[in-house]
Amino acid sequence: MNVLVINAGSSSLKYQLIWVEQQIVLARGICERVGAPDAFLKHGIAQNEVVLDAPMKDHDAAIGLVLENLVSGPNKAIDSLDEIDAIGHRVVQGGKYFDRSVLIDDEVIAKIDELAELAPLHNKAALMGINACLHHMPGKPMVAVFDTSYFQTMPPKAYMYPIPYELYEKYSLRKYGAHGTSHRYIAERAAAFLDEDLEDLKLITCHLGNGCSMSAIDHGVAVDTSMGLTPLDGLMMGTRCGGIDPAIVTFIMDHEGLTAAEANDLLNKKSGLLGISGISNDLRSVRDASEAGHERAQLAYDMYSNSVKKYIGQYIAVMGGVDAIVLTAGVGENCEKMRRMIFSGLQPLGIVLDRERNRVRGGERVISTDNSEVVILVIPTDEEYMIARDTFELVHEQ
Ligand code: AMP
Repeated sequence: MNVLVINAGSSSLKYQLIWVEQQIVLARGICERVGAPDAFLKHGIAQNEVVLDAPMKDHDAAIGLVLENLVSGPNKAIDSLDEIDAIGHRVVQGGKYFDRSVLIDDEVIAKIDELAELAPLHNKAALMGINACLHHMPGKPMVAVFDTSYFQTMPPKAYMYPIPYELYEKYSLRKYGAHGTSHRYIAERAAAFLDEDLEDLKLITCHLGNGCSMSAIDHGVAVDTSMGLTPLDGLMMGTRCGGIDPAIVTFIMDHEGLTAAEANDLLNKKSGLLGISGISNDLRSVRDASEAGHERAQLAYDMYSNSVKKYIGQYIAVMGGVDAIVLTAGVGENCEKMRRMIFSGLQPLGIVLDRERNRVRGGERVISTDNSEVVILVIPTDEEYMIARDTFELVHEQ
């Protein structure tokens, strides 16, 4: 079965066409600056990529262009749209309604719309992607895969905030988490790699990229995660602050004369590695600057690793131990130095990084020593495959 996976952002639209049974990506690409005059599409098959400057006034036009390039032109991947069997959509916020992926119908669309209050940019974008597919491929089965659904297993003591209970009742203010598809994938792959049942393991999963989140997965059940009502909470990230004293928000609003939207923007887009280093949200640039003696870059690096270290401690306490710590995403998969800093000093907890293994690049791998009580794994994430697989399974069950 060929599944078209769509990940629609407010001004971008990423896609992959996946042959699920063979786990092969037939085509992939991204529409960027959708709605702007300088919009363009990057579309590729295998190693071959083309970049087309093309007007895309909205997501509907973007999907139209993607489909055109899938069936025609130099990088065509299929002969006709009939070869697309189903479509899987990434949706950020599934709220309390969705604890798993679902086939999309009118009721699901209405719920995603209702939940847009909790994730305005993301859910509205997903809806634009869904509506565009409905328009261009009417009748094609579609599935919504939610970033939050994996964490619906958290107990109330983990997902509630200690604020007046009425606010939870009135606005559904609670922790939902995010990156769930990635955490679910690496937890499953980690168990398979270790040749164990997921239900027998205590795992800490770490998605460390531009966005960062960690989860405690106790015997196959997600019991806690670092992102909150929104993806702003938890770890320090590329441009997001992660957990800070909430009093800072009102302080900067008062002292800098910021509106709520401006404060939100500052904490989401101007903080994290970028805010502290003043250089970049990209860890590679921050690392280069710190190695050249830039003090704030070094501080940013230290804070980032310390923030991960603290969550490792928390989740060991929450689960009463850990069997394996699993790292993924741009930083987790690639940054040897950050991994060294995260795990330095954790030997008393039975966590020992192997310096040589830590230098090896690529693929699923162990980077702890043979005598480390806790296994440290690197597992490259594949959220698109998970979305395609969920879509495949739900369409088959129909
Ligand atoms: P992601 O959001 O998963 O694409 O991850 C992006 C982050 O991964 C950026 O901060 C990059 O600097 C970082 N990253 C990617 N490759 C490397 C690398 N080889 N070394 C250090 N950081 C990297």
